Parts: sequence; C-alpha cells; structure tokens
Amino acid sequence: MAGNIKLEVVTPEKSVVSEEAQIVIAPGTLGEFGVLIGHTPFLTTLKLGVIRYKDAKGVERFVFVSGGFAEALPDRVTVLAQSAERRRDIDVSRAKAAYERAMSRIEGKAKEDIDFVRAKAALDRALYRVKLAETLR
Ligand code: ATP
Repeated sequence: MAGNIKLEVVTPEKSVVSEEAQIVIAPGTLGEFGVLIGHTPFLTTLKLGVIRYKDAKGVERFVFVSGGFAEALPDRVTVLAQSAERRRDIDVSRAKAAYERAMSRIEGKAKEDIDFVRAKAALDRALYRVKLAETLR
C-alpha cells in the first residue's frame, strides 16, 4: 500500500516530531521494528536509542529517544518518551558535560551518595547523544 504515516514524538515538555513519514524505524525493547502504512496495530516499550524515519520527501531523519512507549496504528506512529530530540538539536557540549558528570559519579569522585543506576542511565543517554550527533549520518 502506498502512502505516508503520521509520526508523532512527544515528551512531557514538548512535541519533538509531528510529521508525515514514509517509514519509521524504532528501537523496541524486543528489537528494532519498522512501520509502513497499513501496519497491524501494536503497542511496545522502547529502549534508549535512535528513531530513524524517512520524511515525505524521502530524506532520512534521526531522533534521539531515551526509551518510552510506541503505538503503531495503520496510519500513524505515536512515541511517548521521557526525553527526545532531533539529531540537529543535540547540544554536544551539554551531552559531553553530562557524560563527565555521570562518569565522575560512577568512579566515586563526586562527594555525594551515588545512585549508580541513575548515573549509569545518564551516562548512556549522554553517549547516545554524542554518538548520534557526531558519528551517525
Ligand atoms: P542533562 O544532565 O544535560 O540535563 P539528561 O540526560 O539528564 O542531560 P534528560 O533528562 O534526558 O537530560 O532531558 C531533559 C531535557 O533536556 C529534554 O527536553 C531533552 O530533550 C533535553 N536535553 C538533554 N540533553 C540534551 C542535549 N545534549 N542536547 C539537546 N537537548 C538535550
């Protein structure tokens, strides 16, 4: 079936993407999945990672996502995430600073009680952001 689907990526703070897409590929917790028009409806959780999609003109776009939920319907994909941003909106120095902060917590350099799981999650977000902004094309 030909045609576009509507992609919505929303966080508690903002709408990050609201756009027609030819195809959407997202990091499901059970594995990466792709959605085209006419897809069978399903609901899944997402891992930290990157949503890739082709916009209406066929240009490939990338969006960082910190995990969350995705609902696929025959004509739309909706993603709810705690945080997400388009590749072009990633502030690399901010992500590098977050990386350093998380690393010094994990290495025990920070003079505070450490929530290791939280520090590791922050480290992973920072790494994905830097990787997406600097290396993935
Ligand atoms: P930081 O410690 O720098 O806030 P974080 O991983 O804790 O990083 P999040 O809680 O994931 O940040 O995100 C909070 C908000 O800030 C979200 O709206 C997210 O899109 C935005 N954000 C976080 N880091 C960046 C970044 N490096 N570039 C652009 N936006 C970012």
